[in-house]
Amino acid sequence: MKYRDLHIQTQREFPNNARTEGFGWLVRAGYVTRENQLTPLGEHAINHLRELSFILHHSSFLPTLSASDETFFPIATGDIQLIHCPACGYAARKELASFQKVPFSTEDPLPAEKVSTPECPTIEALANFLNLPKEKTAKALMFTRIADGQFVFVVIRGDMTLSEAKLRNAIGEVRLATPEEIANAGAAAGYASPLGLKDALIVVDKLIPHSPNLAAGANETGYHLLNTNCGRDYQPEIIADLTLANAGDACANCGNPLSLLSSIILATRTDFNFENILLALAESHHDEKGLALPKSAAPFDVYLMHVPGKTLDTRAEAEKVYNELQSAGITVLFDDRDERAGVKFNDADLIGCPVRVTVGEKHTIHGMVELKKRTETENKLVALAGMVSAIKNM
Ligand SMILES: [Zn+2]
Repeated sequence: MKYRDLHIQTQREFPNNARTEGFGWLVRAGYVTRENQLTPLGEHAINHLRELSFILHHSSFLPTLSASDETFFPIATGDIQLIHCPACGYAARKELASFQKVPFSTEDPLPAEKVSTPECPTIEALANFLNLPKEKTAKALMFTRIADGQFVFVVIRGDMTLSEAKLRNAIGEVRLATPEEIANAGAAAGYASPLGLKDALIVVDKLIPHSPNLAAGANETGYHLLNTNCGRDYQPEIIADLTLANAGDACANCGNPLSLLSSIILATRTDFNFENILLALAESHHDEKGLALPKSAAPFDVYLMHVPGKTLDTRAEAEKVYNELQSAGITVLFDDRDERAGVKFNDADLIGCPVRVTVGEKHTIHGMVELKKRTETENKLVALAGMVSAIKNM
């Protein structure tokens, strides 16, 4: 394709709204506007990516993370939180990530004891008042299952956070229980426990059966029970992993500390987000002059340019080269503008095609063209007759 047909507009300056370097280079190279709209060049790049989408799942040119059927690219501005194990490569969306759950204590069950706990409707207040670590408290969360209106009582350890995604996976869609539903089940908001409830589906995190002597509500405002024990004092219907992993938790596979990463999604098993893939490519393949895209992912194999000559019509010579390359199956972006060489060199570096071919008077007279790999600084001269094979070997 020709530069002018794509209406390419490169930019001298980084856009001041660039939140990442990759986005800044995409704007400067003319793939997207400052408003993040694809230009014709950007559309072309994405169409090319679409054609090779089958290899993207196994691409070696992007540092991706795979979590079940999804592929992610880590980036600070990403909107998806991942839990990642740098040691073994495990990755998962934060809300679904598993981790090693270690019981806090292994003491024998003690007799339950009702204690007055005025003004302690939160785990924070309760742990302070009783002078207990939060790990020794039971956090109660109450929902109603959408499908059948079933009241659901969830228990997790007081130091942990419920993953609603994990809960939904365990029992289906839920909404928060209303005050009436809570009262009907016999629970007291802020002082709730699974003991002695009516018609409640009791769902506990898998740590709860291994967490003896937890302080839990007494289902009476202003009172809690010390030393509640799952299995002795109440029977859960469902035991499941229900809590959110955090940075520093131990990996379920290998035990090493997990980390938290921001990311964007590139693909699911059946769908691709090509705009995110283009951004990920720009993010991971640029230098101080512009994009330097890998051969298989670049929108064109070659950036072809002519340097206007004094006696020779280099543009006509370049046109011949253009046709020859295309007949050999090499995709070409032909910069057919009558601009100075320096302007074109800059644009070639910005746009980032793997190889630049320059047709200039000095060498073309001798049947030679100049080739330069985007990632190298040296040019090499090749005879026109050997040009196609030289490019294919670069
Ligand atoms: Zn691991």
